[in-house]
Amino acid sequence: MPTIAKRLLNWFDQHGRKNLPWQQPIEPYRVWLSEIMLQQTQVDTVIPYFNRFLEQLPTLASLAKAPQDQVLHLWTGLGYYARARNLHKCAQIVMEQHNGQMPSDPEQLEALPGIGRSTAAAIASIAFGKDSAILDGNVKRVLARHHAVEGWPGKPAVLSQLWLHAEHHMPSKRCGDYSQAIMDLGATLCSRSKPKCDICPLQSSCLAHKQGNPQDYPGKKPRKVLPVKTVQMLLIQNLDGHILLQQRPPSGIWGGLWSLPEFPPEDDACQQTEALTGVVSTHTELPPVRHTFSHYHLDIQPQLLQLSANITKAQQVMETAPQLWYNLQQPQELGLAAPVKKLLNQLASAKP
Ligand code: SF4
Repeated sequence: MPTIAKRLLNWFDQHGRKNLPWQQPIEPYRVWLSEIMLQQTQVDTVIPYFNRFLEQLPTLASLAKAPQDQVLHLWTGLGYYARARNLHKCAQIVMEQHNGQMPSDPEQLEALPGIGRSTAAAIASIAFGKDSAILDGNVKRVLARHHAVEGWPGKPAVLSQLWLHAEHHMPSKRCGDYSQAIMDLGATLCSRSKPKCDICPLQSSCLAHKQGNPQDYPGKKPRKVLPVKTVQMLLIQNLDGHILLQQRPPSGIWGGLWSLPEFPPEDDACQQTEALTGVVSTHTELPPVRHTFSHYHLDIQPQLLQLSANITKAQQVMETAPQLWYNLQQPQELGLAAPVKKLLNQLASAKP
């Protein structure tokens, strides 16, 4: 029987995806950017973000020089913002320490911020043709099924078995096409809920197919109930209709993004507003919003507080965080946390 690599490459030549925006042309900056965007995110979602990002920041050098706000703005809506901050930091390091050229060596790539083992291997194989094995979510699913590897891949023992299979199948030629082929197979035929085994090139050797239970692989993450945190977010609106935003600290949840002033649920929203800005004329409680992170739910109680007078900068009590008044009609290019963007959009489209 031909090797897995041979069968996958034959299948890729006929059916693989070769017209994705980051494949035209294939070059390190584009491959790296796409690999980071594709972490935890579907291809269809990534495409418009990728195109918009490249229009504004077409080269690694332009990304390194860009202000962080521009990078976070281009990322707004994609989530997992540490990816954007690391991308930015990584571009600056590549400019300073690698003469502006992405390294081709997987170990050097892995030493850069935001690049893990599989992403380093994807860049090394796709952009530089190195025989470096990848193991992203799609590849984990294909290999777990093909070899009937039991258990959740988040467990180190399961993961190391999958890495062994990934390395074993990596061919020494057409490495980039092979990486692309096994990712494509996972994204198209060997999909999570309805694998199309009848047309799969790996069917004859696939153990999960033989057992008749591909959906049982890979093993599920043990379920746990997510805790709930509750906050109030203040939409403080001045007489021009602008909303007060504060920038979050550089690291942690929504690090570096612009957000609304936040307070514990028991605090008095009017008192907090008056301490921050000026006298409140009207106060409206808006419908609550739930935002779910991987490790907890955040229940947000938005409060709209309209001021009775515009305050001058000198009157404004400056917090340690930078602040600005956000124009809802002509929004500034800022990185915004997803629920904050949603609340601002709702307010912008509400009838006066
Ligand atoms: S035969 Fe089915 S389960 Fe096995 S790799 Fe192919 S699509 Fe996935």
